[in-house]
Amino acid sequence: QKAENQILIIFGASGDLTKRKLIPALFELYKQNLLPDKFAVLGASRSTLSDDEFRKRADEFLPNNEKLDEFKKKLFYQAVQNNSAEDFKPLKSRLKEITESLGIEKNYIFYLSTPPSLYGIIPKFLTDNGLSTSNKYFRRLIVEKPFGTTLESAKELNIQLLNYFSENQIYRIDHYLGKETVQNMLVTRFSNGIFEPLWNRRYIDRIEITSAESLGVEGRGGYYDHSGALRDMLQNHLLQVVGFVAMEAPVVVEANAIRNEILKVFQSFRPIQENEVSRYVIRGQYTESKIGGQQVVGYRDEPGVDRFSRTETFVALKFFIDNWRWAGVPFYIRTGKKLPTRVTEIVIHFKNVPHNLFGTSSFEHSNNQLIIRIQPDEGILLKFGMKTPGAGFKAQTVNMDFHYSDLADTNVPAAYERLLLDCMQGDATLYARGDAVEAAWKFVQPILTAWETNPEIPIYGYPAGTWGPEDSDKLILHGQWRYPCKNLTNDGLYC
Ligand code: NAP
Repeated sequence: QKAENQILIIFGASGDLTKRKLIPALFELYKQNLLPDKFAVLGASRSTLSDDEFRKRADEFLPNNEKLDEFKKKLFYQAVQNNSAEDFKPLKSRLKEITESLGIEKNYIFYLSTPPSLYGIIPKFLTDNGLSTSNKYFRRLIVEKPFGTTLESAKELNIQLLNYFSENQIYRIDHYLGKETVQNMLVTRFSNGIFEPLWNRRYIDRIEITSAESLGVEGRGGYYDHSGALRDMLQNHLLQVVGFVAMEAPVVVEANAIRNEILKVFQSFRPIQENEVSRYVIRGQYTESKIGGQQVVGYRDEPGVDRFSRTETFVALKFFIDNWRWAGVPFYIRTGKKLPTRVTEIVIHFKNVPHNLFGTSSFEHSNNQLIIRIQPDEGILLKFGMKTPGAGFKAQTVNMDFHYSDLADTNVPAAYERLLLDCMQGDATLYARGDAVEAAWKFVQPILTAWETNPEIPIYGYPAGTWGPEDSDKLILHGQWRYPCKNLTNDGLYC
């Protein structure tokens, strides 16, 4: 069923995210006839642009298609300053004009794609202009990442937002939750009889999540140097993924039921105390190196980065979830830039058989793994030991795999498509709830504090193009990280 007629107001419409991700996602939805019957986008930022100029900018990332001209007619632009509530008057008048001329109901989604310093201010100005609530129409607010840079600032931002919008109007975006494979985790776990009985401390040895990027900071050194891998990737995206891997079955597939279960996982994280940080967390920074015969600069030599920067471009973490299901099972997460390949995957390592019957080779191959590939080449792979044909009982590891790309006629939607559509339909399941965001920050904050206050905690260098500091291998006491192959192709899962 299509969402109600509505207008999407994007603050930060002259920016990068709008043209690279948001408008292309909307166009995809339009092509598939998924947008509401009456729909418009009103872009807003300080730059002076006409509707036509805004539409031209949008063109840059849109494929040529017979529906393009029709779609572009839905795009409008209004220049808006953000110094006072008075500055929002032109926006309000423009909204009135668009709703009246196109006959669209006054249902509004406000999308904050501006610098984070404005996340608390724009909602105030919307409220001052009577735009944040209505008795008759829905009013929703999407907030981009980063949601705070510390526990305190995240709490402060929640307080600010809740002054003007209620929790059920607020959609905190985490684009990882828009990924098909993350959602598929729920279906894999809770619609199959074979996985869930094994999904606990009795049969699982450890769980590993790797999110590797082969790119470096790509000209965004100035931004990244104030963020780092822990804030940029782990606190939000990867902990949300842990939530889906580790949660109990929700009572129903509904936003609050699922988000309650995710919160419980976060509340069960065993805290890492400041004095334990060196033991459980390894941070690194890429150094200059040669990749494919090409010299690449180290992080500290990237434009915009402080020459003495201690911002991590790699982090690996070991932690525990203290509850009945996961007691004693180590969780390992690592993420970094300038690693050998781009891949995000979850590896469930099952325990070995209790007794070695067929000799060492079979024992090694009985290390069963379920690998859930989030990107690229979304899919699932199960690794297990089989008898090598011939005499004796030699074993080898074989793979059973499923690739989303194998599903005929399936177009795996981009994360922003799914998330925008969900918000249009009022479904917040795949958006982070305020209490869970704070719980995730509570877990991460002691690590940040220890790094900031204790200069003795090392930051290890790792040559660009390698799998991070060697010390990250030592976090895993038994076994090792899974190293996906370097050049992932469609057959990437076979590595
Ligand atoms: P950007 O290219 O720098 O765009 C920022 C937008 O905000 C521009 O349209 C800018 O336009 C507007 N703006 C309004 N008031 C501003 C002010 N006081 N100072 C500076 N700009 C102001 O940023 P972006 O990459 O689109 O990212 C937008 C937000 O999304 C950021 O918070 C970012 O963290 C988040 N995000 C981005 C990405 C991505 O891939 N780009 C991914 C995830 C999250 P005017 O100057 O015309 O006002």
